[in-house]
Amino acid sequence: MTDSEGESRDGVEAAVMRARAAQTTWAQRGFRRRGLALRALAARARADAELARLISEETGKPPFEAIGFEIAYLCEATRVLAGGSGRRALAEDRRSSLIFPHKRARVSWRPRGVVAVIGPANFPLLNNFGDAVAPLLAGNAVVLKPSPRTARTSGRMATLWREAGLPDGVFQVVEGNAEISQALVDACDMVFFTGGVSAGREIAARAGQRLRPCVAELGGKSAMIVLADADLPAAARAAVWGAFAGTGQVCIRVERVLVEAPVAEELVRLVAAETKALRLGAADVTARLQPAQMERCRAQVADAVARGAQVRAGTGEPTEAGFPPTVLDYVPADATVAVEETFGPVLPIIRVASAEEAVRLANASSLGLSGSVWSRNQARARDLARRIETGSVCINDVLVNYFFVAAPLGGVKASGLGFRHGPEALRQFCYPQTIVEDRPLFGPLANWMRRQLGFPYRQRVLAVLRFLLKVVYR
Ligand code: NAD
Repeated sequence: MTDSEGESRDGVEAAVMRARAAQTTWAQRGFRRRGLALRALAARARADAELARLISEETGKPPFEAIGFEIAYLCEATRVLAGGSGRRALAEDRRSSLIFPHKRARVSWRPRGVVAVIGPANFPLLNNFGDAVAPLLAGNAVVLKPSPRTARTSGRMATLWREAGLPDGVFQVVEGNAEISQALVDACDMVFFTGGVSAGREIAARAGQRLRPCVAELGGKSAMIVLADADLPAAARAAVWGAFAGTGQVCIRVERVLVEAPVAEELVRLVAAETKALRLGAADVTARLQPAQMERCRAQVADAVARGAQVRAGTGEPTEAGFPPTVLDYVPADATVAVEETFGPVLPIIRVASAEEAVRLANASSLGLSGSVWSRNQARARDLARRIETGSVCINDVLVNYFFVAAPLGGVKASGLGFRHGPEALRQFCYPQTIVEDRPLFGPLANWMRRQLGFPYRQRVLAVLRFLLKVVYR
């Protein structure tokens, strides 16, 4: 790294070259040994007081979130992804063909090479080094570019990597702004981007120009659907936690509540009471907001109020201390706060006539990241969940889907491309290589078949082929 301004384009290219040189040996280590190394690194990170301190310092998050969300996630992600299902997902397997029974194909999952991980500001560990875990386990080298707003956490992970004696060049951090992201996309073999929709579009287009794969994990407008038979106190508690954890800067946060009219008043009363009980600027809601984020929150609240919404908790106005968690009731479905990502501490509540209307509104969004359905009837909730067009849905819970590292998690529509987590994600950071060969002991048949196929085409062979097509595919 050069200085606080960040890396230069040449510096990025040099980092990618170092990564390329180191990657082959890393890939040769094998999945099990790579997994052990990353699990040992996660244990080192867990014991490192400096890391938790940095996460809190850079983001303003309370220690509960720095440790409970970010460090806990790293431990769980390395444990799950390095486990047996990951090893099996990347193991070579064999496939056969009815047309060429004397042959077989060996399919192996080869790392793509150097993966660029470009991370957001809101989760400096979980969405930065945390997102390097799967590509590294799959045998790639990673060059990570964190957000300039919270880059020191990634720098600390690079130090811990070195102190753990892990190979030079396999994991590197480059610092900088959008231009450095672009230089990285231009030099790497694959991109794993997490951030906002507009930067995601640019990154994916740039990767597309080079025909390099790009995973993009972008923004959300996740709906929490509360049916009339829900456990309302539990739903209210979850709405407040889901909306205001990380001061609302969580991609899968509760961005809007869609509640059935008969229970709406009671739910709003409970949500407002829970919100008023939050400890601001202390243990619960302390994360920092950028001025632009505060302005977005203010403008969205003002727009909703102008269209008839009522403020039930908070003021919807920024103060010296930040932006107070604000609850809005009677929000019209077309208000900006009900449609566009807020990514800040504002919770709009939209009253709906029926579950059908809730599903329709949930799906009317251009985003499709996450969501939840609340009902005492789990089968009915599951039926509704299946109709929601998002990458994941919780029933009677919020946010916890992120910690199911064994299951894929991603977005649809403008929320992104690809996904993280699960053995499926490990394969995503590889390309399949198929090697077709003769089966042992089938050599003479293979030689005879090779003579029958190809030029010159013979009528007799075509007649046999026709006969076989008729018999086999009837
Ligand atoms: P951001 O898009 O501003 O920045 C993300 C990263 O991209 C940073 O490293 C930044 O330096 C870089 N960047 C910014 N503009 C760029 C450009 N034009 N070209 C190339 N690189 C660029 O996002 P942020 O403010 O750090 O994070 C907030 C957004 O991220 C929210 O929309 C949130 O929903 C989303 N997010 C999504 C997930 C997910 O898993 N889906 C997780 C966390 C955050």
